[in-house]
Amino acid sequence: MDRQQEFVLRTLEERDIRFIRLWFTDVLGFLKSVAIAPAELEGAFSEGIGFDGSAIEGFARVYESDMLAKPDPSTFQILPWRSENPGAARMFCDILMPDGSPSHADPRWVLKRTLARAADMGFTFYTHPEVEFFLFKERPDEDGGEPTPVDAGGYFDHTPHSAGHDFRRNAIMMLESMGISVEFSHHEGAPGQQEIDLRYADALTTADNIMTFRLVMKEVALEQGIWASFMPKPFTQHPGSGMHTHMSLFEGDRNAFYEPGAEYQLSKVGRSFIGGLLRHAAEITAVCNQWVNSYKRLWGGVEAIAGMGGEAPSYICWGHNNRSALVRVPMYKPSKGNSSRIEFRSLDSACNPYLAFAMILSAGLKGIEEGYELPPGAEDDVWALTSAERRAMGIDPLPQSLDEAVHAMERSELAAETLGEHVFDFFLRNKRAEWQEYRRQVTAYERGRYLPIL
Ligand code: GLN
Ligand code: MG
Ligand code: MG
Ligand code: MG
Repeated sequence: MDRQQEFVLRTLEERDIRFIRLWFTDVLGFLKSVAIAPAELEGAFSEGIGFDGSAIEGFARVYESDMLAKPDPSTFQILPWRSENPGAARMFCDILMPDGSPSHADPRWVLKRTLARAADMGFTFYTHPEVEFFLFKERPDEDGGEPTPVDAGGYFDHTPHSAGHDFRRNAIMMLESMGISVEFSHHEGAPGQQEIDLRYADALTTADNIMTFRLVMKEVALEQGIWASFMPKPFTQHPGSGMHTHMSLFEGDRNAFYEPGAEYQLSKVGRSFIGGLLRHAAEITAVCNQWVNSYKRLWGGVEAIAGMGGEAPSYICWGHNNRSALVRVPMYKPSKGNSSRIEFRSLDSACNPYLAFAMILSAGLKGIEEGYELPPGAEDDVWALTSAERRAMGIDPLPQSLDEAVHAMERSELAAETLGEHVFDFFLRNKRAEWQEYRRQVTAYERGRYLPIL
């Protein structure tokens, strides 16, 4: 047994932890959990705990359903929710096949494999997500009525003694008690909408942290008798919830995106990374924006919402401090030294963070490998341009629906290589089915619009 495993076993005894939750993530980004007793843990560390993979979305076909969950001791944390009594703790797991080899269906493995590719090129990938979400007064019902936001605040509003304010305070304390540092938090543009930004960490830690974050937000909301949702676009008339992600590559302790004196202090590596993101943007969109509803955020009445904190990107371009661009190179702060980074803005808060980070990194690495040139930046508000102007500047739209995104992905070698055959096929099959189910719905909007006049 190694030192981390021994530390976990000792802590269980000292803190009287009776339940250990083994966490992993299915292909669509839902958290799964199985609880074991402390006595089972040594076996779990050495061999893993068996479960039926065919019952998990995207994991296995029925005839090869036996799988193992093997906890990663470096992710051990005691769960701070009040309801956990006696104490409970969690660890994220790697998913293995019965012969001990990694399962190709495990999103954590997909990301690890891509991070290993980056490591072969000498890079560590760091990410820092800005997670947006909504708080509603009550649990939304399944018949699709509009939920009531907890407050009527707007961007950066202070809203004293409001539910959102207390919520952010409790939520951040709970995250910190689980070892997740928060850098920044505030009210976002829509009523009831919040943003919490997590501190920079390597991408695997950040992806684990996002999974924990979504659960913590839901737990804290329940404790306060409200409801948290990461749905990308719950309201027609308000902006949706994005998960803008800042990223950089490090070579040892040197930021590989930083070059003193270069334009925006951005190195050749940084420029080619952006080149990769732009060239492959359409192919990676289905994974970054995986729901029918995600496209209502990206295309949700940009004209009406821009300037009100809408600001979800619709066009494939980059800019320096341009909030209508897909990729933004934030202002460089000399006092922050190694802090050169780029912000990728299409991601939404309901993605599978392991798969999304893998796709983004893969696109960026491709740009570096192939030495892609950075096209000229867009310094205008790209929503305000005409389509002819955008065409003349070589600016293409992002996919406008899940259907378009799926078409771009199914032709993508980059997506197939990054996800591996199993996840690639499952994901496309699942998303085609989601689109077909959606396409046949006759909505309240259509009846309201057409019945009176047709
Ligand atoms: N909510 C916006 C989005 O969907 C972002 C708003 C902001 O952070 N400026 O991307
Ligand atoms: Mg922000
Ligand atoms: Mg924001
Ligand atoms: Mg941002």
